[in-house]
Amino acid sequence: MSVIRVALPVPLRQSFDYLLPEPLQVRVGCRVRVGCRVRVPFGSRELIGVVWQLEPADAFATDALKPIVDVIDQEPVLSERLCQLLSFAADYYHHPLGEVLVAAMPALLREGKPLPAYRALVYQLTELGQQASESDFKRSARQLALWQQLQHGPQNESALLKHHQRTTINQLLQKALIQAVEQPFQPYTPQSDSTAGLKLTTDQALVVSRIVQAAGQFQPFLLEGITGSGKTEVYLQSISPLLAQGQQVLVLVPEIGLTPQTLARFANRFAVPVLSWHSGLTDTERLNCWQHAASGSAAIVIGTRSALFLRFRKLGLIIVDEEHDPSLKQQDGFRYHARDLAVKRAALETCPVVLGSATPSLESLHNSVQGRFQLLTLSSRATGQQLPKLELINLQQQTVRYGLAEQCIQRIRHTLEQGFQVMLFLNRRGYAPALSCQECGWLSDCHRCDASMTWHKQSRQLICHHCGAMRPVPKQCSHCGSTRLQPLGQGTEQLEEQLQPLFPNYPLVRLDRDSTRRKGSLDQALQQIATGEPQLIVGTQMLAKGHHFPLVTLVVIVDVDGALYSSDFRAPEQLAQLITQVSGRAGRAQHAGTVLLQTRYPEHSMLQDILHNGYDSFARLALEERQQTQLPPYLSLALFRTESLQDETGQQWLQQLVELARQLAPEIQLLGPIRAPLERKAGKYRWQLHCYAKQRRQLHQLLQQLISEAERWPLSRKLRWQLDVDPIDLA
Ligand code: ADP
Ligand code: ZN
Ligand code: ZN
Repeated sequence: MSVIRVALPVPLRQSFDYLLPEPLQVRVGCRVRVGCRVRVPFGSRELIGVVWQLEPADAFATDALKPIVDVIDQEPVLSERLCQLLSFAADYYHHPLGEVLVAAMPALLREGKPLPAYRALVYQLTELGQQASESDFKRSARQLALWQQLQHGPQNESALLKHHQRTTINQLLQKALIQAVEQPFQPYTPQSDSTAGLKLTTDQALVVSRIVQAAGQFQPFLLEGITGSGKTEVYLQSISPLLAQGQQVLVLVPEIGLTPQTLARFANRFAVPVLSWHSGLTDTERLNCWQHAASGSAAIVIGTRSALFLRFRKLGLIIVDEEHDPSLKQQDGFRYHARDLAVKRAALETCPVVLGSATPSLESLHNSVQGRFQLLTLSSRATGQQLPKLELINLQQQTVRYGLAEQCIQRIRHTLEQGFQVMLFLNRRGYAPALSCQECGWLSDCHRCDASMTWHKQSRQLICHHCGAMRPVPKQCSHCGSTRLQPLGQGTEQLEEQLQPLFPNYPLVRLDRDSTRRKGSLDQALQQIATGEPQLIVGTQMLAKGHHFPLVTLVVIVDVDGALYSSDFRAPEQLAQLITQVSGRAGRAQHAGTVLLQTRYPEHSMLQDILHNGYDSFARLALEERQQTQLPPYLSLALFRTESLQDETGQQWLQQLVELARQLAPEIQLLGPIRAPLERKAGKYRWQLHCYAKQRRQLHQLLQQLISEAERWPLSRKLRWQLDVDPIDLA
């Protein structure tokens, strides 16, 4: 009998050792290896875990250990490098290894489902299908197209789905004209003669050559390229030589950046299989994508943050697009930053990693100043187009109708009459952030949070954007009974409602989380915009991400004032990124663009800086300021958060932590316990403790000591606490 250490999907920060009976080793026919799944007894249950270490030196006495029940895999499901990445992540974020593992394994693998022996679906014509003729498809051009494509021979499912819909495939299956056959997954066939790309500008060519030269080495790059500078073209041409060598490429994108347009740009350029990975996949689709990546049959995977944990056969390059985007950081549970772990992964895989953005995070800029990242810049638009002109509109000196200055309304009208499109950006969905009673001042407060509920007029509900609570919109004030209820503030639904009568002859498209909830609706909206007819586009943050709207020449940023005076030290950076990204949507084709930014504080120094010098200059100044005020990235920050039913519990628990930390590491600066900006959420009181350290290593040592002590406190059972290392969101 030998001892193995197993990672189990449980929220406990400890290791679990088991005995590996000799017969089991013989039965699986090979030596059990790290990364193989095993079934083990755990309390009264059985759990699926992953072998993490063979013969751990510090194992407990063997007579206290239980034997494992079964070995599931002959070959490890997690590669050695992946195991190293996960170990690193568990240590760095001080998160239980078993839960880190959960993030890295598709559900079907976690459930212990045996890995289908690397099989892919291939479609081919049946005998009936071979005898069919064009006239059989008179009613459906889509079915005809699919049938015609399959006449060239069997096709991979993933290749088919690039050009055909699953329903069309299913229709032909039902008619027995085609059939699905399983074939072993195989590494994709290297492709040297991919469709040539655009002729690169001198700047682009230089950037591509730097990235290509780094092949086979660990080298992080920060690609700072203004909006429309042709970063995507750079990615495509940097990938191309790798595809000739059969290497794989991972492209990480922010959540809403993964549109069919993005996918199409990669899929249309290369003849190799391109797969996407995102939260909308079913468990089976996930496992399928996982296997394509692991077997090497996928050449390119484009995915949201958790794609970082996919297994690859031969990873040659990682690209993190919009590296500044907060959605690359997971905000609950295992709070990792996909950008930071991508750099670690590239180091483990010995390959280059490109972090691209028009508005790089201060963290990455800092890394480039320190020489850890090599800085690559694209400072002009690839099409030669000027950057849009930014103008501040002082709301205090204007008549304002529906939240829009008269001057803005006129410019919108003028632009539409000239045959162009106008984009209005307002980062608040719903009709109004609150409903209020005009008689007694009652507000639509959430009963469970310290926040008001947003009025959603179209769905006739009040919804709390913090805890998700919903209730019907009251007809009367619940306090005084008055019917004089009024919206307070403006959201995208309201802006839409008000703009329509102002510009009755122009269609309006709204893009926000509510209007795009239905599957396919975002695509539909983007298609409507692409028709090119003059129209109004109203939307939230969603507009800022990567979309290419060639006919938008005017962008109106309706309201940013709330963010100008925030207490969060990251607020100016995030606002500057948002303004620059939204502005970047204007004038991307032949026509010059203008951005109007409405504000009551046109003298604000940050706005002035962005206006006159652009993000680049703002960011460098902001970085200096962070150094002077001793904030990240100059110091390392970790944040403890508590949530408790009793207000005092969290404060007490954090106070105990403070006292312990003062003894253990007096050099670490502590701020707290302080109340969280949102003091109460979903009925729980929220407190925070910020820990700042000059030396990252010291901070990590302290965190580890604090956690192992705190886990033993009886008080810990009365609350929920979490630790956020390198937090992005301080709420
Ligand atoms: P970014 O990702 O930096 O915002 P894109 O890659 O979307 O920029 O490019 C912006 C526009 O410029 C696209 O329409 C693209 O086709 C075009 N473009 C990119 N590179 C070139 C080039 N070398 N020559 C001509 N047009 C280009
Ligand atoms: Zn009232
Ligand atoms: Zn709430």
